[in-house]
Amino acid sequence: MEIINPATEEIITNIQEDNKPSLDNKYTLLKKAQPIWYSVDLKERIKIVQKFAELLKKNIEPLAAILTSEVGKPLQQSRNEINGAAGRVVWLADHALQYLSEEVMNQTDVLTEKIVYEPLGVICNISAWNFPYNVGVNVFVPALLAGNAVMYKPSEYSTLTGLEIEKYLKEAGVSPDVFQVAVGTGEVGGVLLEMDFDGYFFTGSYKTGQYIYEKVAPKMVPCQLELGGKDPVYIADDVENIKSVAAGTSDGAFYNNGQSCCAVERIYVHEKVYDNYVKAFVEEVNSWKSGLPTEEGVYISVVSRRPQVDFIDGQVKDAVNKGAKILTGGKKKTGKGYGYEATVLVDVDHEMSVMKDESFGPIIGIMKVKNDVEALKLMQDTEYGLTAAVYSKTWERAEKILSQIDSGTGYWNCCDRVSAPVPWSGRNHSGFGSTLSHLGLRAFTKPKAYQLRN
Ligand code: NAD
Repeated sequence: MEIINPATEEIITNIQEDNKPSLDNKYTLLKKAQPIWYSVDLKERIKIVQKFAELLKKNIEPLAAILTSEVGKPLQQSRNEINGAAGRVVWLADHALQYLSEEVMNQTDVLTEKIVYEPLGVICNISAWNFPYNVGVNVFVPALLAGNAVMYKPSEYSTLTGLEIEKYLKEAGVSPDVFQVAVGTGEVGGVLLEMDFDGYFFTGSYKTGQYIYEKVAPKMVPCQLELGGKDPVYIADDVENIKSVAAGTSDGAFYNNGQSCCAVERIYVHEKVYDNYVKAFVEEVNSWKSGLPTEEGVYISVVSRRPQVDFIDGQVKDAVNKGAKILTGGKKKTGKGYGYEATVLVDVDHEMSVMKDESFGPIIGIMKVKNDVEALKLMQDTEYGLTAAVYSKTWERAEKILSQIDSGTGYWNCCDRVSAPVPWSGRNHSGFGSTLSHLGLRAFTKPKAYQLRN
């Protein structure tokens, strides 16, 4: 398999893909190693995971360089991701004892009733490339803490990062056979679906997630899906600092070249503040440096996969054909690399793909609305349900809207953020199940109830 640098189109390296026999071999090792790993004291497993976080931080420069080389993320954003992932690992490790230890729920003179959180066994984690550290640690860290063995399939677009993760987990003290990397494309993922894992944890697109859910269903094992989004933001007319709201929301839309599951994908603005907001938003976008992801200060670089450039261009053309206006950007970048200009569209509506289908790139549609009722109706007009945000002076106004939106996360005066203490979960086409928080620690366990009569 060729690993290609999306910014230069150079082949970084060639790498051997896994196949059925090599995956069977890895599976056998995982199966043998898992009970031994579970027998390691939880406090020891926590120490190992903490060491992993330290190693990520210690090696941040080479790891960031590798990440940027294979996904095209601006170097500073690669550093930010690794730092952020290390922080999540620390949170999960710090709370593992509290949420994974057995719990006595009822005790009398004659009866003890308790829950033991047993590991699922050997789990399969099929992952995405856009934040490979973040979405990876959300799954394999709590899985390992809970005593599972993990077959980790990084995306084919972030394979080198997946192999670095394996190296540092092992250096931290995870037993050699307990964590295995399945190298390859979706085909290798397909082989994993034919095997007998004790749980499947997937991060990726709705289309693949739906396919995986159907394949896993007959196995009668847990299947958790973290999928895409078309996340809306509403700017109410009582926001106080329009410039800082425009800066925050444009960052939410364009960070990582717009390739975040919870990126701002559509913006609705109250008509009273619309003109000022759009002006400030476009000024912000035009102030960003665009170029190679390795150049200092670059904010807009390239998207990670070549076909996405045509998809984004298709959305822009579709919108313009239906009456949208381009305020900035609107074209593929010339020269090497999968570049697309940071693009702002107005006069958009829900007949246009840009307001309905996940863009996953550096483009955004901004739409004027008359009031909160119209904003809510448009925000609800989606099959996805990952996040939604409202910018307003009071929480009461935002809560009225957010409580009626079927999404896993609601943001007030912020957007495009993930935080370890609270669950990360989608609804509808954005998937189901939770990672992070106490729910994300327990997602990798089977609770066993013990009823003990003296
Ligand atoms: P993708 O669905 O194309 O691929 C994801 C993974 O599935 C890859 O490892 C791929 O090799 C594998 N795969 C592909 N076809 C398969 C098959 N038939 N059987 C088994 N495995 C298969 O998604 P992607 O392009 O890697 O990621 C982008 C998507 O992920 C976006 O929609 C984004 O919103 C979503 N995402 C969601 C979250 C979240 O937390 N909700 C986080 C990151 C990304």
